[in-house]
Amino acid sequence: MENKKHKLSTRLIHAGVEPDPTTGAIMTPIYQTSTYVQAAPGDHKGYEYARTQNPTRTALQNALANIENGNYGLSFASGMAATDAVARLLMPGDEVIVSNDLYGGTYRIFTKVFANYGIKFHFVSMHDAPTIEQYVNSNTKMIWVETPTNPLLNIIDIEACAAIGKKHNLITVVDNTFASPYLQNPLDWGADIVLHSATKYLGGHSDVVHGALIMKEAALEERLRFIQNSCGAVPGPHDCWLVLRGIKTLHVRMQRHCENGEAIAHYLRSHPKVGKVLWVGFEDHPNHAIAKKQMRDFGGMISFTLKNDSIDAAVEVLKKTQLFSLAESLGGVESLIGHPATMTHASIPREERVKNGLVDSLIRLSVGIEDKDDLIEDLKQAIG
Ligand SMILES: *Cc1c(COP(=O)(O)O)cnc(C)c1O
Repeated sequence: MENKKHKLSTRLIHAGVEPDPTTGAIMTPIYQTSTYVQAAPGDHKGYEYARTQNPTRTALQNALANIENGNYGLSFASGMAATDAVARLLMPGDEVIVSNDLYGGTYRIFTKVFANYGIKFHFVSMHDAPTIEQYVNSNTKMIWVETPTNPLLNIIDIEACAAIGKKHNLITVVDNTFASPYLQNPLDWGADIVLHSATKYLGGHSDVVHGALIMKEAALEERLRFIQNSCGAVPGPHDCWLVLRGIKTLHVRMQRHCENGEAIAHYLRSHPKVGKVLWVGFEDHPNHAIAKKQMRDFGGMISFTLKNDSIDAAVEVLKKTQLFSLAESLGGVESLIGHPATMTHASIPREERVKNGLVDSLIRLSVGIEDKDDLIEDLKQAIG
């Protein structure tokens, strides 16, 4: 297996992948099987039953561990299945400190599923990370960080959160879906678990739903692998293969996402009808210094508001774009446009979301890897 001395671009292609031992096939085969033949009970080649192990999944898990600078990777049927597995580390009475600007599905599983099991979640602003220590008490077990956040693209200091976690013996989890391992490696800043919805940048082609956890510590991996196998939200081998294939071009895609993102963020900022543009790369972004510290580049996620701040004005733009498709999700090769107030964040009361900056006209872009001039032209005709 490719070791950690190579640079990320090399590891993305080779990590975890070995030629198939029976044929030499360079591409990892899709082991579409549910079980494995044993010579005698217990005499097998490391594979017994496919919920527990599958060689295609093993290759992917090893690749994931490597590209996030961890020692272990675990694959799940979706990002939410990975989140579910982490939450199952908790017991009734435990408390979790969670960033308040969060993926809607994560907010939903915490408040509507795990709160029913007696686990308490404190949703707090982590803009000034050291201040979250005030929420730590003797029941606190976990800190849950998402950075950059969705859709407001706030930045949270991973190193500062992990330091508080270490000091109080808490597990620090970072949802790294928006950044991808190309832009940021939370384990390097002290996080214990990195979570991905591989549905987004890792898969990268909007053709698979998949989740992943990566960690360094053997004891933590053992607990999570036990949960993965016991609860059973494992991915099929074909989905593992798609993610493994997607990962091989992550660096090339991300480089273009970043270039296009930068060009479009600057274009939008110069547009007379556009209000605020939220993009991590602007020097006047409120946590730009932290972004520069923990990220290698700034990505292709952009949100913006219209000076005519109304749902109707936003919907007019959404209806007119042609290259930017109106859809949920992000991180694929094609550009997407969305309206959080009526789509992903519609369940949050208006007063609450507006207070946090999620105003009526806020539009979110997942900038794809098409030609940037064409993308800018599309936005120009749509905004008018
Ligand atoms: C999409 C997403 C998830 C959930 O992942 P699924 O693969 O859709 O289950 C979790 N966190 C973030 C930041 C996401 O964007």
